[in-house]
Amino acid sequence: SAGRHAEESSPEGTADLADATVLVTGGAGFIGRQLVQTLSPGVETRVLDSGTSDRRAGLPDETAVLEGDVTNPADLAAAMAGVDVVFHLAAYSSVPATLDHPTRSLDVNAVGTAAVLDRARTQDARVVVASSAAVYGRPAETPIPEDAPLRPRSPYGVGKLAADRYARRYEDWYDVPAVALRFFNVYGPGHRNGVLATFLSRARQGDPLVIHGDGSQTRDFVHVDDVVRALLAAARTDATGEAFNVGTGETTTVRELARLVQETVPGGVDVLHDDPRPADIEHSCADVRKAREQLGFEAELELEEGLQRLVDGPDS
Ligand code: NAD
Repeated sequence: SAGRHAEESSPEGTADLADATVLVTGGAGFIGRQLVQTLSPGVETRVLDSGTSDRRAGLPDETAVLEGDVTNPADLAAAMAGVDVVFHLAAYSSVPATLDHPTRSLDVNAVGTAAVLDRARTQDARVVVASSAAVYGRPAETPIPEDAPLRPRSPYGVGKLAADRYARRYEDWYDVPAVALRFFNVYGPGHRNGVLATFLSRARQGDPLVIHGDGSQTRDFVHVDDVVRALLAAARTDATGEAFNVGTGETTTVRELARLVQETVPGGVDVLHDDPRPADIEHSCADVRKAREQLGFEAELELEEGLQRLVDGPDS
């Protein structure tokens, strides 16, 4: 159809999808929006999202945006009609939200994923499922390989574990090609949750940064542009029934993050320490070898550079 010229002009990695029709569930969210912006206009893309406000904001004009719920069979059937590739990102995406809504969030995060995979059976679609480092819980060692024990600690992690495992089994059960991507701490423009976004917005307002505990906790912060590249790599790989970590393989302590954020504001801001959070995971870092070897994916943006882009960028 008109406007498909991924071969010549579209960002790296989208050319393989030039003839595909793509659905992004949760496409109005933080990661989904970046993905849709990368796919359009070269790839015919539609979005299914239940969010009621701002659903169109930041999405290209040519993207069809359907308001609907992945757990509603009619909404899902309409969204998936004729689709070749599904990026399934719709979810209760924060741990506290799943603690507030343990039943409904399981319905969306686990059953919703099963529904997407199930729909793919009847139409030969490939499915890329957003999983999470939360499936590992408190890892025995870092960096965490994909075959580490999965011991989620929150309703969020349990729902993602079910989604992740369904994605990996659907090929065996029903011949549906699917993979799960276990995102680590994603950051970038438009992100509002998490320690990095919180630090940045507090620093901008001149409020002190609050570290829970001594700040020796480590995280693997991966920029959303890299996550989009991983999603595209997962759509074109032949691998199915697999899970891949999506991180940088670099660890940053929360204390170090606070220092980096302090440096972005002239004059700096104070850093305070508060009580440790009992459920906090001490260390998190992706073993990135499998994604590198089997997807050809490697994160490119270092935290310093990604942070600087956020500070300089228009939507931060
Ligand atoms: P987000 O909350 O910004 O986006 C999720 C989108 O899904 C929202 O627009 C929301 O309206 C939509 N949605 C929620 N429930 C829905 C439903 N029932 N039907 C249709 N749409 C629904 O989250 P995000 O940060 O963009 O994350 C995208 C995916 O990646 C999620 O599955 C999340 O769990 C996963 N993930 C994110 C991170 C991270 O650091 N951001 C880390 C690990 C995994």
